[in-house]
Amino acid sequence: MAGKGLLFIVSGFSGAGKGTIMKELLRRYDNYALSVSATTRKPRPGEEHGKEYFFISREEFEEMIRNDELIEYARYGENYYGTPKKYVEEMMAAGKDVILEIEVQGAQKVKEKMPETERIFVTPPCAEELRRRLLGRGSESEEEIERRLHRAVDEAPYMPQYDYILVNDDLDRAVEELHALICAAHKKSVHKQDMIDEINKQLSDMMRGGN
Ligand code: 5GP
Repeated sequence: MAGKGLLFIVSGFSGAGKGTIMKELLRRYDNYALSVSATTRKPRPGEEHGKEYFFISREEFEEMIRNDELIEYARYGENYYGTPKKYVEEMMAAGKDVILEIEVQGAQKVKEKMPETERIFVTPPCAEELRRRLLGRGSESEEEIERRLHRAVDEAPYMPQYDYILVNDDLDRAVEELHALICAAHKKSVHKQDMIDEINKQLSDMMRGGN
């Protein structure tokens, strides 16, 4: 894809299946880059430093805040999560569409700084399904699951701020729908200013030429 990549935010309830959608999107298409966040939370089984997250200490995280190395950061439960600037900027400059998988407060901060960012909220088809998925994951304590469900209640009021609501009832369909949304965003006039300018210039040259 020619030109600059665009920035997208994907948020959603913990357990909505954002991670699985992202993995599958990246496997199917090569024009995407998924930003790797820094976090102070401990890795879950199978998670690797530099892959799912940069797992760092609270001191290291606070150092990144002080050095202005993060586009945004937020507290989620007991932990800090933040988006490192460098990778996002490099990937967009290289023409990749960059996806930030972040929670609602971080999403709000990015939107304030970069208003043209498109935001997508992923939800399972119903609340009961959310609980089933959190239980099925088996990696969280009962208290943590309870906390995440309460968090969903707190996050739901943010849904209307999002540009799109993506219902994850079927992985294949959700991945293709997300891809289609991103493709459509590229056609928006706000991202087509160069082309609009060029056509206008050609039209005025044509008129001056007396045709
Ligand atoms: P988890 O611990 O389940 O991996 O993530 C918890 C929440 O933190 C999820 O909603 C996830 O989208 C969000 N999150 C992950 N990385 C970031 C980040 O860099 N910034 C913000 N604001 N939220 C993040």
